[in-house]
Amino acid sequence: MHYQPQLDLLQNRIIQVTGASDGIGREAAITYARYGASVILLGRSDEKLRSVAQEISNISELPVRWYTLDLLTCTPQACQQVAQQISLHYPRLDGVLHNAGLLGDVVPMSEQDPQVWQQVMQVNVNGTFMLTQALLPLLLQSDAGSLVFTSSSVGRQGRANWGAYAVSKFATEGMMQVLAEEYQGQLRVNCINPGGTRTKMRASAFPTEDALKLKTPADIMPLYLWLMGDDSRRKTGMTFDAQPGRKPGIAQ
Ligand code: NDP
Repeated sequence: MHYQPQLDLLQNRIIQVTGASDGIGREAAITYARYGASVILLGRSDEKLRSVAQEISNISELPVRWYTLDLLTCTPQACQQVAQQISLHYPRLDGVLHNAGLLGDVVPMSEQDPQVWQQVMQVNVNGTFMLTQALLPLLLQSDAGSLVFTSSSVGRQGRANWGAYAVSKFATEGMMQVLAEEYQGQLRVNCINPGGTRTKMRASAFPTEDALKLKTPADIMPLYLWLMGDDSRRKTGMTFDAQPGRKPGIAQ
């Protein structure tokens, strides 16, 4: 995507990113801060979040706060507590990027470990749903709220061996569509499919590919910026590719 926003695109926006400790989420949090947003980081490792917050404080004068929440073990109450904590410091949320995700096992259905299956569903669907429910009141305080979920090409077209991960991403697309219709005119809700991107998750899914042939998280940020800013204000209920035209699968 060719998109060159003004550096003040996200000024006065308060944006929360899950999975902000690594990979695409880390890059998105730093990028949103660079474009003027006040960012809130969510993740499961206090140490990793602290280091991202430190990095952001080198480029932004706005305070950065981070909260730990393990989506694998979280309860609705724990999600409400995070929302409560956020509301002590922020009047609203203008954007939420649900980016945290778990890959699980890339094996045929017959070999999917039911326990791992449940973990993938818990992190990618159930925990993400509970957190969304808790954050909705803060998002609805914004006059330009943007809720973004992270999908995958296997969340639109099933592919052998992608088991729980693919099914969870179909569910993510469904959650986005339901919410988009429910909050029409109040909150826009969309999905991003990052496309193959150079991260730890990608390396564990495709251990033999040459990672240097993949786009980096920084390369795919234009879509992440566009969906949080005013230039996409009319878009809702849609799913976007950060790398349009890229053939899914192993790096070419
Ligand atoms: P990474 O594995 O690099 O990062 C995943 C992030 O999610 C990390 O911050 C990780 O935290 C966090 N996370 C994992 N489990 C939990 C949990 N239980 N509770 C809270 N946070 C958790 O992955 P990517 O950056 O590659 O992926 C980001 C998103 O993009 C995912 O939703 C993924 O499915 C999607 N995606 C990625 C593609 C790619 O090619 N990279 C392609 C298509 C979709 P921690 O740092 O503690 O591990």
